[in-house]
Amino acid sequence: MQAKAPSPDYFSNCTHCGFCLAVCPTYKLSGDENNSPRGRLRIWSEETAGRLARDEWTDFYTDECVGCLACETACPAQVPYGELFERTRHEHVASGRSHPPLALRLAAAAVARPAWFNLAMLPARFLRKLGLPLHRFLFQGRPALLQTTASYAQKLMLRHRPTGPRVAFLTGCLMEAAFREINFATVRVLIENNVRVVIPAEQTCCGAFQEHTGIDGAAALQQQNRSAFLSLDVDAVLSNSSGCGYALGRSLAHASPGRPVVPVRDVLSFLGALGPVRRERPESGARLYVDLPCHLVHGQKAPGIPENVLDATGYQWELAPNARDCCGSGGVYNIQKPENARAILAGKSAFLNEAEGEPVILGTSNHVCMMQWHSAGAAGLVRKAFETKHIIQLLDPGEGFAVRNKA
Ligand code: SF4
Ligand code: SF4
Repeated sequence: MQAKAPSPDYFSNCTHCGFCLAVCPTYKLSGDENNSPRGRLRIWSEETAGRLARDEWTDFYTDECVGCLACETACPAQVPYGELFERTRHEHVASGRSHPPLALRLAAAAVARPAWFNLAMLPARFLRKLGLPLHRFLFQGRPALLQTTASYAQKLMLRHRPTGPRVAFLTGCLMEAAFREINFATVRVLIENNVRVVIPAEQTCCGAFQEHTGIDGAAALQQQNRSAFLSLDVDAVLSNSSGCGYALGRSLAHASPGRPVVPVRDVLSFLGALGPVRRERPESGARLYVDLPCHLVHGQKAPGIPENVLDATGYQWELAPNARDCCGSGGVYNIQKPENARAILAGKSAFLNEAEGEPVILGTSNHVCMMQWHSAGAAGLVRKAFETKHIIQLLDPGEGFAVRNKA
């Protein structure tokens, strides 16, 4: 697909107030105005108007952006920074100004074919199951090797026959291929809370990977997901990954006019409205520190993770310091810009070295943020032992639960 360069007036509603500078991780790291939202918008605007030459210097500042969208939340003029950034990044890749490495291009092709990707990631699931994660991003967990979330959900639905709200569940590409124990836990929590779970077989990757890298292919994936989800008679489509939920929500919202819009909800927000079953835990010194993914609070614009959901984990919890700030993950930013990502994470994770609690649990709701947080220990930024968990795992009843409030 040939990317279209934005028209000059596309950037015009930035009033240059500078409110976004204080929240921008790359501006905070560098102190460089060009490395801020306002600076990038100015560069793109000047380039588009033909007043600034397109060169490596301007490309550098586009590539530096994490894509955390904190500037959108801070902006009083409602500049659609994320959309502008995505469009610019795609135009840079399509026109050859930016060259994603071969590994990322291969990964983009792989995630678009879930069956192949699941097969290709079998060794990663195997090593995680053995407790041998060989990479700093692979946090602890015991995923099923062969059983898919769809077949597991079907089995549990037949066994428990919940009667409450009906939802479709996005299982995701990397989540299903490498971290599917989180999907299994999500299915158990939903069914325990009397939610009927449907997993459409035709679903595919949400396209966030392509959007993060600027590589072609997101549109076809989005269209496939519209076909998979929009024909279903469900109360909501749920995602347990805030980045995937944000991407899917935007693609379903762009359905053909006249077609009903199915709301895409984060699973924890959905459970918050239901009031989930609480896990009872013996008194312990465990402490849960909660981090809020950027694509939850700045992308989906959710207020956070509901307090009744965090209370239901049964743990003594508190928000991590600067919980709304980026951890440096940025989808694949920690692969493309490892030094920046590490510097951002170093600042954000330093508190864990002094954190109270035994064990210390860092809980969040996006698997790529979990990978980034886990790397803080594996890369030596945090010396104190801590576990990285998805909040849904802390609500997990395990096997052998009963459905509550069943009609
Ligand atoms: S998306 Fe994040 S890193 Fe990029 S300009 Fe906005 S605040 Fe800065
Ligand atoms: S906060 Fe919004 S209007 Fe103000 S400088 Fe940043 S992008 Fe422009």
